[in-house]
Amino acid sequence: MKIRLLVFLLLLSLGGFAQQQDKVENIILISIDGLRWQEVFKGADSLLIENKKFWVDTEAERREKLMPFFWNTIASKGQLYGNRALGNKVDVKNEYWFSYPGRSETLCGYYDPKVNSNEYPNNPNENVLEFFNKHQDYHGKVVTFASWDALGRILNRDRNGMLVNLPGEDVLDKNNSEAQHLINELQHLIPDHFHECRPDELTFMMTKAYIQNHHPKVVHIDFGDTDNYGHSGEYAKYLSAANRIDKMISNLWNTLQNDPFYKDKTAILVYPDHGRGTGDKWTDHGTGAPHSNETWLVALGPGIPTLGEVAVEGQIYQDQIAQTAAHLLGMTFKANHPVGASIESVYVAK
Ligand SMILES: [Zn+2]
Repeated sequence: MKIRLLVFLLLLSLGGFAQQQDKVENIILISIDGLRWQEVFKGADSLLIENKKFWVDTEAERREKLMPFFWNTIASKGQLYGNRALGNKVDVKNEYWFSYPGRSETLCGYYDPKVNSNEYPNNPNENVLEFFNKHQDYHGKVVTFASWDALGRILNRDRNGMLVNLPGEDVLDKNNSEAQHLINELQHLIPDHFHECRPDELTFMMTKAYIQNHHPKVVHIDFGDTDNYGHSGEYAKYLSAANRIDKMISNLWNTLQNDPFYKDKTAILVYPDHGRGTGDKWTDHGTGAPHSNETWLVALGPGIPTLGEVAVEGQIYQDQIAQTAAHLLGMTFKANHPVGASIESVYVAK
């Protein structure tokens, strides 16, 4: 009788433990500006590559060489959507195919035709980050670090008062760590970067130092150098930027998995804001560059079924990411506009 009771209690506690491990309590949203699905799923493009750094013979090896974290850790434990060669499609729903409308669609879960310019003022549409920030468990624990200064308007920080750290801005907090003080200083000593931008490595280190010291529950990182080097037509630097971002995401994942606050209860979603054209038009995006509405999505974390590279036919739109993030945290995102449906396969095992 006693043994039966012990076994019963053991099973009960194991069940509880398994449930606990599947619970997502924190979420990291990462945007990579204008990184094409072609590079994510096929690696360096044979028509464009001018040096051999990311070249190997097969597509499978090339994509792994370019983005090793995506094709080792995420492919074995998470999900990668958007390989159109397999019929799996991710697209922006907006009809503009550039940065402010793309990010607004993703973060608000809504394509608003009025949001039609990168100079658009403060976004009238509510975003999922401020929705999280209104929740008592998340208030003050939702932060953005961006390489491009338009994020202040896209997220309308004037309205919601969230921490949205932009190029040139220091993190000012009386509890800053020594690392945070040093990165604040570094920001003012580096050479000029692209217009209205700072290097992704600086954005990343500011984020990492903030995470280690303040333990935010929702972290949004906005990387931009892939798009900057795309527009400047430097394919080798574009590839190198993508490769460094993959390294930074790997570094971040290891940081989270070595911190009990985040370990096994933190999910990551990664996606771009738009694609790019093909062939000679790879440098550009927008309606003048066909195919630049084509994007991708990857997901990794507890409770996210292991699908690896998703090889079934399907269609995801960028406006579904916000509700998917909310559902991962057990919430339903409601806003002052309609919200795209969540992507069930991200959190429901089939
Ligand atoms: Zn962009």
